[in-house]
Amino acid sequence: MTVIIIQVMRFGIYSSVDDSLKKATKNIDDYVNMAMVRNTMVSDAMDEDSEGSPFKIKPDGQMAANTDTILYDKKHNVVNNINAFSPLYRIHPKLHNLGAIAEQRAKNIYGQTEKYRTVTVKVDNAFYPQVKFATIVINTTQLEEANQRYVTIIISVMIVFWLISVIASVYLAKWSRRPILENYEKQKSFVENASHELRTPLAVLQNRLESLFRKPEATILESSESIASSLEEVRNMRMLTTNLLNLARRDDGIEPEITEVNPSFFDDTFKNYAMIAQESGKTLHITNKVSRQIKTDKTLLKQLMTILFDNAVKYTDQDGEIWIDVKTTDRSLILSVADNGQGISDTDKKRIFDRFYRVDKARTRQKGGFGLGLSLAKQITDSLKGSIIVKDKKPQGAIFEVRLAASK
Ligand code: ADP
Repeated sequence: MTVIIIQVMRFGIYSSVDDSLKKATKNIDDYVNMAMVRNTMVSDAMDEDSEGSPFKIKPDGQMAANTDTILYDKKHNVVNNINAFSPLYRIHPKLHNLGAIAEQRAKNIYGQTEKYRTVTVKVDNAFYPQVKFATIVINTTQLEEANQRYVTIIISVMIVFWLISVIASVYLAKWSRRPILENYEKQKSFVENASHELRTPLAVLQNRLESLFRKPEATILESSESIASSLEEVRNMRMLTTNLLNLARRDDGIEPEITEVNPSFFDDTFKNYAMIAQESGKTLHITNKVSRQIKTDKTLLKQLMTILFDNAVKYTDQDGEIWIDVKTTDRSLILSVADNGQGISDTDKKRIFDRFYRVDKARTRQKGGFGLGLSLAKQITDSLKGSIIVKDKKPQGAIFEVRLAASK
């Protein structure tokens, strides 16, 4: 691209110079007359009114300041007056190539090289029969220098833009690869975590089944502990694989089925929660301020509330207390599930929504947790265009606050 621009510029500069030279060859007599006038130094001769004088003709009215004419006799001697210090003396008439434009160089008295475009033509002038050849010379040194300056500027600008585009493309390539890499990392850790979670129940199962084999004559009753424990692990694995399947399916994005949900839905759900709380020896305080119909995905909402309620039950002590508040604003549904359990440290708050993250791995596994509940809750709130946050409850415990889009 740069080369093309530079070539076009060079061509543009020289084409106008060459045009002037071609015009000069067509009006060569005018140039000869003009050169000879200078020669004789007769200023009066320039008078346009002097009839019959060759000097009345202006050379095309376009003779540029940097144009010179060198006239030669038949022996190729210069016949017109040229400044003694001018490098024009070093210009050679191209007699073997008459009419063709040539490029020539000559050193001036300061030792600098001047550049010229020249054309030599045969002359047959009635006023100056001694003049046999004329070379029209245009000094292109300044044009060349200006051209060189433009070339330098263009090349510098091109290099700067080239560097900017390289840096931008490297940055964009990295930027566009980031979500793919992130997804890849997520998938990898998902598979790693899932296999890790399955390893423990499988090891327990293997252990228990092997112990059954070691006592082949034992009755089912005698082996009931091993069988019960194996069954428990199988149940755990089923739950885990179901959760994993749900998560994997929903990774492609949950498609909520928005329907109208009546306020009675909350009352019914909370009745069930009250029963579970009672069975677990917890006190449940409910504040239901939903007084209008809302539009949301009923199944997802129930799943979300159950995850939070389940955790509140799991992570409070024997006679713990749980508070569920739900209310509507003009456009949202606000749900808060609080408990006076062990609470969540600030570092854990940042990670509990990650898949498989459990604060106390050993303890939560006893409680049947895989660290998937809150990541599912987050997925659900995202799909329902909402948010979920966790806060401390004073003096102790945790509050999960959910805000969902729930228009009328
Ligand atoms: P899990 O199935 O292990 O409960 P979750 O994703 O639901 O997985 O929760 C992740 C972790 O967050 C849990 O292991 C637990 O340590 C912590 N957590 C969740 N809810 C509460 C709560 N209400 N109080 C204290 N800790 C909680």
